[in-house]
Amino acid sequence: MSDAGLEILLKSLRLSFMAEQWQELEQQAIVQGWSYSQYLRFLCEHEQTGRDDRRLQRYLKNSKLPAGKSLVNFDFAACPRLEQRRVVQLVSNTDWVKRGENILFFGPSGVGKTHLACGVALGLIEHGLPVRYFSATALVQQLQQAKANLLLEKQLVKLDRYAVLVIDDIGYVKRTESETSVLFELIAHRYERFSLMITSNHPFREWDCIFADTTMTVAAIDRLVHHATLIEVEAESYRKKAAQARLGVAIST
Ligand code: ADP
Ligand code: MG
Repeated sequence: MSDAGLEILLKSLRLSFMAEQWQELEQQAIVQGWSYSQYLRFLCEHEQTGRDDRRLQRYLKNSKLPAGKSLVNFDFAACPRLEQRRVVQLVSNTDWVKRGENILFFGPSGVGKTHLACGVALGLIEHGLPVRYFSATALVQQLQQAKANLLLEKQLVKLDRYAVLVIDDIGYVKRTESETSVLFELIAHRYERFSLMITSNHPFREWDCIFADTTMTVAAIDRLVHHATLIEVEAESYRKKAAQARLGVAIST
């Protein structure tokens, strides 16, 4: 078979990284005296690595995560009450994702909830899990639009492709019946199947102002916390501290 024929065959088998690299590796194999099986193994390894990299790039792009929020650049010393180990474990042991469990970050504004949720999300992507970030407001808008077009169920199923959805700032969702019911439908749809990672400035006792009525609030909280890790983030506002450091003055709240 000609070289071009082999390349076409590899491409038609979707072995694009092999198609790209077989000649270069062949030269290496000749020079270094690899056995046939060694050559084949290296080719397969290149294909595997290439596919993993490509998937990582695709997942990162699709996640819509804000840039620059990783656990590596999160200053845990600024949140002394937060157990770093607990947060890091969410990435090193992803069994909770397989079980469709949820993570809820609570705390006042500016303490790093969004940063932490995005940092965990990024770590999950690096472990090969598909994740999608939404601000709660944008998600509700999108789901409402789908509902208006009688496409809500389809949209919810579409989101099943993500093992974890980040819903950021759930407290800022406006409270009309139809807005909050789509959020409830999402929570019910993913319950015990796929994970949610939620950040909120409001403790549960204030969630009545997120959902349309108390029954819906209770039902939503029940489903969210049934299998969930709750993480309280208590710290001085990092935003405020950063602004103070920039301006060199104390800003009163
Ligand atoms: P929240 O979601 O709790 O309101 P954010 O996560 O948006 O707070 O944090 C506000 C800003 O401060 C962001 O730019 C975030 O990256 C940064 N920040 C907050 N806490 C930390 C921290 N402990 N280490 C590094 N950056 C932080
Ligand atoms: Mg936030």
